[in-house]
Amino acid sequence: MPIQILPPRLANQIAAGEVVERPASVVKELLENSLDAGASRIQIDILRGGHQLIRIRDNGCGVEKEELTLALSRHATSKVSTLDDLEAITSMGFRGEALASISSVSRLIFTSRSAEQSEAWAAKAEGRDMAVELLPASHPQGTTVEVADLFFNTPARRRFLRTEKTEFNHIDEVVKRIGLARQDVSITLTHNGKPVRQFRSGDSDVALGKRLQVVFGQKFLAQAIQVKAQHHDMQIRGWLAHPQACKPSHDYQYCYVNGRVMRDKLINHAVRQAYDELLPAELQPVFLLYFDIDPRQVDVNVHPAKHEVRFHQSRLVHDYIYQVLHQALNEGLNWGEIAAPE
Ligand code: ADP
Ligand code: MG
Repeated sequence: MPIQILPPRLANQIAAGEVVERPASVVKELLENSLDAGASRIQIDILRGGHQLIRIRDNGCGVEKEELTLALSRHATSKVSTLDDLEAITSMGFRGEALASISSVSRLIFTSRSAEQSEAWAAKAEGRDMAVELLPASHPQGTTVEVADLFFNTPARRRFLRTEKTEFNHIDEVVKRIGLARQDVSITLTHNGKPVRQFRSGDSDVALGKRLQVVFGQKFLAQAIQVKAQHHDMQIRGWLAHPQACKPSHDYQYCYVNGRVMRDKLINHAVRQAYDELLPAELQPVFLLYFDIDPRQVDVNVHPAKHEVRFHQSRLVHDYIYQVLHQALNEGLNWGEIAAPE
């Protein structure tokens, strides 16, 4: 075969392979877009585990009619424009790929009204030739993205979708994880018309406390060891479970770097090491940690789904986290403030 440039749809479908693994990854990308748009209210409606429909409505800044087609194009973003921006990213998105990828493997409608516009417009893309159709619509300020029939044109991917229930559980997990990072935003989630989750926004400690109870249960909070420390441009906040409340799985490890949901090996390792003698090898720490650092000290452009980061001074970060948590655990347990769970 001669060398040829891929047609846009195929190029986007290949990119979609990296970002759009399942309905939950669509929800993650759309939710992050709503947060980047400054939304204070986000409503997520799912039909049949996301196989049939994923709909996310926000009250963010919206997109102007002139920019709608661009928003759905690959490598089109309003979030970075220079290398300097890329080196210190504070938005969730920056790759300009999500909407192009998602629309190449689904039937997508992006309806939006910006603050400056008096009418709303809908952009439709059906994964055909990446052509976008613009239609007048009715919508308050903000955006609604509807993603229907995910993977309808990529049967190999569609076959990998699990049951409605499993896919919905993954979606719910994404919503919980992001919900724990943004108490300032109210988020509701429905499945097949039934309300499943309602995170109300509010005063950050109260709102976070309520969300923690929902995700970890009341007992966790009562027994957890609270952590709070700062060193130069690094800050750690969070909760560590009592060793006896730890679990045999990694499912209850919630880690955020600069507000972004992470599965970071370095941080996980530092936490495990902090628990070391306190925990039998078959149990895994249960924790919720927010780690903040100067965005210039971390590279988030490592993985298309941005689940991983690279710290410029990884040794320093690792040792700092280890020390803070080790001390917190030992003090917390020695002072007997925390009664062991029965
Ligand atoms: P990225 O988030 O990396 O910029 P996306 O493909 O996810 O790339 O989105 C492309 C652009 O579309 C964004 O940069 C933003 O300008 C616009 N956009 C997407 N979703 C929303 C939304 N919910 N509200 C306002 N603008 C949005
Ligand atoms: Mg995005």
